[in-house]
Amino acid sequence: MTGFVADVLTLYPEMFPGSLGHSLAGRALAEGVWSLRTTQIRDFALDKHRHVDDTPAGGGPGMVMRADVLARAVDAVCPADDLRPRLVMTPRGRPLSQARVRDLAAGPGVVILCGRFEGVDERVISRRGLEEVSIGDYVLSGGEVAATVVLDAIVRLLPGVMGNDQSGLTESFETGLLEHAQYTKPPVFEGEDIPPVLLSGDHAKVDAWRKRNAEETTASRRPDLWLAHQAAKKT
Ligand code: SAM
Repeated sequence: MTGFVADVLTLYPEMFPGSLGHSLAGRALAEGVWSLRTTQIRDFALDKHRHVDDTPAGGGPGMVMRADVLARAVDAVCPADDLRPRLVMTPRGRPLSQARVRDLAAGPGVVILCGRFEGVDERVISRRGLEEVSIGDYVLSGGEVAATVVLDAIVRLLPGVMGNDQSGLTESFETGLLEHAQYTKPPVFEGEDIPPVLLSGDHAKVDAWRKRNAEETTASRRPDLWLAHQAAKKT
């Protein structure tokens, strides 16, 4: 395998590549810029009925994915000398950021474990050094959609995947701000004009408008980002 190598451990391998088989990511997959393998976790269950889950220790609702089954699956996909980061998707994890996505895209690949049910036994996380990653403060029914989000964000940053590599650098979060508003044709839409400065041909004025728009948008919509941006400018 060449390029960026992604392994996904899941109970639903048929959910992949899914949307990753289309558009930018799909083209890059077909061209070998990255590769995607899926592993059926159930293949690592040892009992006759191939159980991967059991009741939670301490009682309570739902089922938990077993540490022993998951550890066998991780070990099969990712031996000790495999240096790729190992992620487990969970709402309890550190929220995914563009900075972490950039780090991952600069590496050799990634191994992603997708949870189901109430999640995974804590011991497989600690014993296999899994990095807990969340894609937001809401609960999905499984880690597959979350893994797809992580991979989509990574793959578009791989060299050669985006048509204009510069476009990635001005996007939301790259500079700590949300991106400025975008406009295209027609010049007037339902009575609303494009801001005239964007049609002026004066690049300095366009840049200044975009910077101001990005700052105002970030300050009003994401005070958390705005405060961090202000603090970073002071240091
Ligand atoms: N009981 C867990 C909790 O309250 O934190 C939620 C389990 S959820 C129903 C099943 C699986 O979906 C999780 O193990 C995880 O893999 C995935 N998942 C759900 N929400 C997620 C999120 N926001 N980010 C990443 N993965 C998520």
